[in-house]
Amino acid sequence: MEIRKKLLSSIPAVDEVLKSRSIESLLEEYPRTVVTDSIREYLNEHRTEVLRGGFDNDNIKEPDIEYFVTGIIKKVEATMKHRLVSVINATGVILHTNLGRAVLSEEVNEMLIKIASRYSNLELELSTGERGSRYSHVEEHICRLTGAEAAMVVNNNAAAVLLVLSTMARDKEVVVSRGQLVEIGGSFRIPEVMEQSGAVLREVGATNKTHLRDYEGAVNEKTAALMKVHTSNYKICGFTKEVSSEELVELAAKLELPTIEDLGSGVLIDLTRYGLPYEPTVQSSIKAGIDIVTFSGDKMLGGPQAGIIAGKKHYIDKMRKNPLTRAFRIDKLTLAALEGTLRLYYDEEKAVESIPLLRMLTLTLEQLEHRAEELKRKLEAIIGKSCSVYVTDEFSEVGGGSMPMHKLPTKAVAIKTHSISADRLDSRLRAYKIPVITRISRDAMLLDIRTIMDDEYDTITEAFEWALMENQQEK
Ligand SMILES: *Cc1c(COP(=O)(O)O)cnc(C)c1O
Repeated sequence: MEIRKKLLSSIPAVDEVLKSRSIESLLEEYPRTVVTDSIREYLNEHRTEVLRGGFDNDNIKEPDIEYFVTGIIKKVEATMKHRLVSVINATGVILHTNLGRAVLSEEVNEMLIKIASRYSNLELELSTGERGSRYSHVEEHICRLTGAEAAMVVNNNAAAVLLVLSTMARDKEVVVSRGQLVEIGGSFRIPEVMEQSGAVLREVGATNKTHLRDYEGAVNEKTAALMKVHTSNYKICGFTKEVSSEELVELAAKLELPTIEDLGSGVLIDLTRYGLPYEPTVQSSIKAGIDIVTFSGDKMLGGPQAGIIAGKKHYIDKMRKNPLTRAFRIDKLTLAALEGTLRLYYDEEKAVESIPLLRMLTLTLEQLEHRAEELKRKLEAIIGKSCSVYVTDEFSEVGGGSMPMHKLPTKAVAIKTHSISADRLDSRLRAYKIPVITRISRDAMLLDIRTIMDDEYDTITEAFEWALMENQQEK
């Protein structure tokens, strides 16, 4: 108890600490409030620890101010460091939702900086000087690229679906197949979104099979629309039947009802040309006659987070007047990024070359191998003494709930070391100033070359050097 009393009385006052030389120089770099708060918090933590008896057996005698300074500086730095930082995605999951989904292209980034740092004609019609619509900057591109009559954009596709249902089917019924009641990660579930919108879900068919007659049989005077949902993140295999967009449109026309299709990922190019599985394009749904199509901006489109609604003008006009549109509206940065991304699609070759998602998706095995060898060489030169580094065959994933069954053959650089476990190395790499996010498989650490950008090889090598060195020091 004597020790505790002594230690407690030796804790300096905040003002005293503020006057110390090391803290004074800290104040040149960091705001006073943050430094003062950190001192107070640090001293309080120390006091609590003393009271808990945490130092009873240590032989620290009445510590001086310098004793506290290191801890305080660490606290200040931790508070002031950027929390949202760029990371290196070595997982091979191209649309990694936790890592921000699609990476934007260089062209788009230039535009973003310009729009962010200056005034823009966001809602100004330059030809007349009158108030304009923020959606006009992307609407024409969406229409030209998809063949739709009209389009608008909201914050994300979940919001798009909610807005569409709330506008077209409030207090009425929407017929959906039981096989398409999707749950997307992050609690987006079609039945729940439908409830939120005020529309009533009318499920038809069975999990594996839904026929056209099932839709027809469910229609009554309360029906507002027939809806299709792309089962983006799962597949029903075996004895199955889905109604095509064309068939649904034909039935809806006969019943004088509109059709809605939630495509999830918005694919604008035919991916089979690149050896990938067929994904329905937005154009094909519009061409089939679907009245309203919704899709994400940051999935297979490779743009910013956004929800795009494309289709018949009179429905889109109604949506514009829905108060939810104001609540779901997108900001100028998203608009700039979306416009920039869409523009690239006029020239497919250019799109595949400059939209990172499409570039990563269409890399050939030969290109991947070449890159993996280059990264392997760089890593070997630095950590080859303590680790075995080799190139191995692996599979990447599209991610973001897109093409769930499709495994993309890829090349990964594998790292094995006896001095540290793969899990430990993984956590060290995440602590690096540019965190490296990897995949671990059977005790080896894997760096999937597909999602690693060309200019990140040196940073990865530095991260490994740092992680292994830190490990040595901690031993
Ligand atoms: C991903 C997805 C959504 C949600 O889109 P967000 O842009 O993530 O809000 C909705 N419907 C389907 C079918 C999806 O795949």
